[in-house]
Amino acid sequence: MRVVEILFYDTNKVKLVVEMPDPERCTTDCAPHVPRSLFRLFPHLSRHKCHNGHGFSFKREAMATEVPHLLEHLIIELQSQAQHHEVLKGETQWNWRVDPRGTFHVHVEYENELLVIAAVRLAERIVNALDRHDVEAIDIEREMVRLREIAELGRSFPREAPQFRPRPLSLDSALAALSWGVEAQA
Ligand SMILES: [Zn+2]
Repeated sequence: MRVVEILFYDTNKVKLVVEMPDPERCTTDCAPHVPRSLFRLFPHLSRHKCHNGHGFSFKREAMATEVPHLLEHLIIELQSQAQHHEVLKGETQWNWRVDPRGTFHVHVEYENELLVIAAVRLAERIVNALDRHDVEAIDIEREMVRLREIAELGRSFPREAPQFRPRPLSLDSALAALSWGVEAQA
């Protein structure tokens, strides 16, 4: 599994484009060891709310769901463990009539930009390590210490809503620009 794109939008959301290398093996029932190990590493995941079509608890749903959906919940869990958050939400979507098979869009809320990037990359490494049966590759305690340090660093950055309003072009300035033979730009 690879997170190939991270897009920040609105004021508190990221959209990830996730590619599964084998579209036939996108769900956890093909790799039941992944959710099992994940719940062992992060027992609090079993308390996550999950709105799935079946009305299942997340723990039940996780045993037969898309791997990127697991990633979504893990990114939320990692952020919540590194820094206090009220509630973070997420959503996993796909439409293979439009996108190549195996492509997923994972949306996750965040409060701390640096933290969410670090949580995305850590979650990606954890899921891939579990998939390879290589839990030893990840030192969770050390990773969580680092994640909290990154959260602390991120908190020290002031956050402002992006302001990219196009500059309005008045008729006067457009005419003035034209009269000088300069191309007017809106
Ligand atoms: Zn869910």
